[in-house]
Amino acid sequence: MELIERDCPDTVRRHLSAEEAAAVRRFCGEGQQVRPEDVRLVEAVLEEMHDGRHVRLWLECDCVSAAGGRPRLTARVREDGPRHFVRMHQYGEHHCALASFRQTPEPENAGPEDGCARRGQHNPLRPVADALDYLDNLNEGAARPGGSTGSEGGVSERGRRLPRLRRILHTLLEDADFARLHVDALNENSRSWERLEAYAAGQALSPRLCLSQMLYFRPWTPLNEKMMEIDALPWPERKVRSALLLFVADEIRAGVAIKKTSMGECVVRPEKGIRAGGRDQRLTQPPYWVLSVVDRDRDGNARFREAFAQHAYSFARPVPLDSRYERVTLKLLFGVMAWVKKHGVEVTLWKPLFDREVRQTDGPSLWCRPDFELTFRSVTAVGVAARLHRVVIETMGADDPDYLERKSRTQEIMKRRGILIEHCVADDADQKERDDAFFRRVAAKILHLAGVL
Ligand SMILES: [Zn+2]
Repeated sequence: MELIERDCPDTVRRHLSAEEAAAVRRFCGEGQQVRPEDVRLVEAVLEEMHDGRHVRLWLECDCVSAAGGRPRLTARVREDGPRHFVRMHQYGEHHCALASFRQTPEPENAGPEDGCARRGQHNPLRPVADALDYLDNLNEGAARPGGSTGSEGGVSERGRRLPRLRRILHTLLEDADFARLHVDALNENSRSWERLEAYAAGQALSPRLCLSQMLYFRPWTPLNEKMMEIDALPWPERKVRSALLLFVADEIRAGVAIKKTSMGECVVRPEKGIRAGGRDQRLTQPPYWVLSVVDRDRDGNARFREAFAQHAYSFARPVPLDSRYERVTLKLLFGVMAWVKKHGVEVTLWKPLFDREVRQTDGPSLWCRPDFELTFRSVTAVGVAARLHRVVIETMGADDPDYLERKSRTQEIMKRRGILIEHCVADDADQKERDDAFFRRVAAKILHLAGVL
């Protein structure tokens, strides 16, 4: 295996030692046994590849001898969590242990029962690791009762299976950068669909199939036309031919997602209905992100098979949200961000779509998923390293006792991630007062931590 320059792939930086190559294959090969020393070797290689901000090197595998057809791995860092390898499907399939790829080895002795034993120690909900997994496996429908809630769906904190489509939607939105907003972006005209197109163009599912060929964003595209395109594409083996439609809907009613255009209403009617994310299941507070699977039924007719919907803050800034209550909180947070910017503090807002890690020195990591996080740096003299601060925001909508109980159990974990501030949202006359108090509290806390007050 060789580390090659990302910006100049003909240039070999260095060859991996036999120990390093074996460690990578054990670490990322499905079913392989990882040795204790492997972890350190793999982490060191990943650090060479990704300096924390940019990918510098790719790893080219020598399991295929033909030059030009060698499979490659790149490195990725998400906001939270360690560096990890990502398969680059456009460069060909591995003929080594990496043909069956996993991002990280399963932790030993961590069955689902163990994972739920203590709060915050469940198996964390993570993004879909590999773009190829956006596609259903052939014959999977029969093997998976319920179809859309198979083993790749992930497990919620209470052990419930989460819809697989939700995990795909959240992965797409996080990777295309919709779950993060820097204060300067508040003044920009967001062109969400251009951002999605650029993202999809850079992702591959196979050497001959790009994500942008199966993921599309125009709900008025005729279904038949779309499926005829899909039928004509070189398709990965053992995968169902299908497309994914992703868009922000103006309205959802009676199992139908609606996009309003100058030509009238464009209607997306999934055969198996629309599931909703978050706690607000009534879907009466648009807009919504909608992700729908497009495929053929048994008779070969093109159809919308199923869909998943998630609150979006607005068309201009479609930050995905879990409830209408969060929309109230987010509006105030945008105001706070603009206000503290006048005092020189630049805040980045994060909407965690997956679990966030809280490392402990004396035990396994704990996991939680706050509603929002705000990060910013101290305002310091030139040349002084500015400290990074984090404020964790929780929206307490008085809607669902089940939800509130779960929140209170993870509060202790959230407090270890940052200063925790809660915002109560209820449909009563006192809301304006609560909103003003929340605004002042968050703004004062940020200015204080940043060293302005
Ligand atoms: Zn290989």
